[in-house]
Amino acid sequence: MIFMDAFIRVLAWRKYFFRWWLPWCFLNQPRWPVLSRDIIELEIIEFCNLKCVNCECSFEHAPSSELMTAQQIKKFVDESINLHWYWKMIKIRGGEPTLHPEIFRIIEILKLYKDFDPDCKFAILTNNFSDYTKRILSCLPAWVSVISSEKKAKGGKIFGNTPHDSINKAPVDLLIYKFADFTKGCYRPMRCGTQLSRYGYYPCAMGSHISRIFGFDIAVKSLSLVKEEAFARILSIICKYCGHYKQPEGIAAKSVISRSWKKAFKQYNKEKPKITLY
Ligand code: SF4
Ligand code: SF4
Repeated sequence: MIFMDAFIRVLAWRKYFFRWWLPWCFLNQPRWPVLSRDIIELEIIEFCNLKCVNCECSFEHAPSSELMTAQQIKKFVDESINLHWYWKMIKIRGGEPTLHPEIFRIIEILKLYKDFDPDCKFAILTNNFSDYTKRILSCLPAWVSVISSEKKAKGGKIFGNTPHDSINKAPVDLLIYKFADFTKGCYRPMRCGTQLSRYGYYPCAMGSHISRIFGFDIAVKSLSLVKEEAFARILSIICKYCGHYKQPEGIAAKSVISRSWKKAFKQYNKEKPKITLY
């Protein structure tokens, strides 16, 4: 009877077992490339005027107002030019990048790279929410294209054109990922690009978001040291905490925080970790 009970339970869960656990933890999850040499995202500001549910930067639970300085952007441009690193696309992002007090100075500096490599495309990622942001966007040069998540307020909530993963639900806290290989990463480094924040280079945007909150001093501090091995090492530390890892079941309408993130948020809001700068 007990055996029968257990058998029925397994049958009831077989859909999840076969659809998610086995395929994604053992069989199908591919090993993704860890380094994009073509696309880079510059995280110029870790501040936003919104606090969307499951914001990738975790502004809901761990607000920040950190900035990259204009000098750091100049260092990036100099490094890229000196190394003859031809980016196909440079994206300016945050947080909300239009709120950076030196946004026009940053654009001026990036123009130096544009003059070096006229084929490189430039884009700014924005929520396009406030009148201030719309005004700033309207003053940007035509060579900077705007990629907007079109955030709108409705019924006291913020909605945009892209659904958010349960970013603060760490796979390492879930039984079904107990045997997952967290060095495999996901498609984001290739699709969205390498990330540069005030701390240095990461394989993906989650690198700086997770490091800022968990206090991992792991960023690569110079473009000349940006290599596959260095990025693979970073992913082996961060992917286990990243909600994006849970492909493709990660999307969540409500805020969810798993054990590791709860602990990290508590510590972060008590005392912000000190991380060396780029
Ligand atoms: S607009 Fe983007 S950066 Fe700002 S809170 Fe929402 S998801 Fe986060
Ligand atoms: S940290 Fe997250 S976004 Fe980056 S590769 Fe790992 S799973 Fe993907």
